[in-house]
Amino acid sequence: MKRTIALCGVLAALFLFGACGKIDPADCKHESHDEHAVCTNCGKTLSHSFSDGECTVCGKTTPFLWKSIAKNETLMSAVTAGTAHGGTIERITYETEAYNIEALTGEKKTIEKHAYVYLPYGYSETERYDLLVLLHGSSDSEGYWFAQNEYDSSDLGKYFNIGNHTKDLLDYLIESKQIKPTIVVTPTLYNEYDNYKAENSVVTKQLGKELTNYLLPYMAKNYSTYMSGSTSAEMIAARDHIGYCGFSMGGFTGMESVLSYCLPYFSYIGTFSGSTFDPDAVIHGINGDIEKYPVNYWYSSCGTQDGTVKYADSKKSYESIVKGVPALQEDENTSFVSIANANHTYECSLTSLYNALQVFFR
Ligand SMILES: [Zn+2]
Ligand SMILES: [Zn+2]
Repeated sequence: MKRTIALCGVLAALFLFGACGKIDPADCKHESHDEHAVCTNCGKTLSHSFSDGECTVCGKTTPFLWKSIAKNETLMSAVTAGTAHGGTIERITYETEAYNIEALTGEKKTIEKHAYVYLPYGYSETERYDLLVLLHGSSDSEGYWFAQNEYDSSDLGKYFNIGNHTKDLLDYLIESKQIKPTIVVTPTLYNEYDNYKAENSVVTKQLGKELTNYLLPYMAKNYSTYMSGSTSAEMIAARDHIGYCGFSMGGFTGMESVLSYCLPYFSYIGTFSGSTFDPDAVIHGINGDIEKYPVNYWYSSCGTQDGTVKYADSKKSYESIVKGVPALQEDENTSFVSIANANHTYECSLTSLYNALQVFFR
């Protein structure tokens, strides 16, 4: 009798093992996953499929905005109403080696570049502030985010079809205490604007050198950040208070420069409507640094109707990189956000900026 029961137990165990054994990921349709986005059928980790604040696969919710910021009437009316006290924007001039030109021609030279700096209301030299470096996309300039210089009202219609609200958004988020007072600097990708098409072929891998060798030291010397000085050690010591975000070509740059070799300096990275043609190189770069210099958060996003970078390519780049970097954990220090029905627009980049600020510098 005992023996029969034991045999049944073994048979039952064999049966159960067969029934519950994981199926091959290659044959799996990945139809359900758990809250960590691990497929319940094959065990493969996939990203959540977020739409309008909720994963369409597992129902998990997030702090991010999924629809275009322009379509969130509550938020937009608060943003456009303005705040009692707003920040200020000033133009800076700094020197840098012309890394794009050097990569294209071999010629070494130093040039002057301009950027805009947003200082939060009440900015004081006696306080310290988080610093966000914010980049535009291909063919735009340092004026993109804050609609400065060449962006006259007719251009606003072209580029900013909901008007330009980057400063309004920052003012609102700071005044309503949703984020801490933050300094935002918007440099340009390019060494010579008229040469932007040629520079596009090299800038995504070059810009990190300018950021870490010239722009961050300039910011350390001239503004009250967490960097106590402009030596590498002093800047690296402040990395928990330094972030990078970039839209489109700036998103490619976030992967191919900032994630790839600037992690000692940047711990928060946002890549908006970006992608990479060489995820293995990015993975190799991140894995070389991440143990010593952890990624506090990598926020990545793309509009589901993006006709320029292509939504599927952006998502695939993200998934390839996360798969190749064990220290990037979906939903813990990284997320991919699918912005519903959004195209490759300022609205989409502003939505992404709002999202990134929900998790940066926390
Ligand atoms: Zn599966
Ligand atoms: Zn999910």
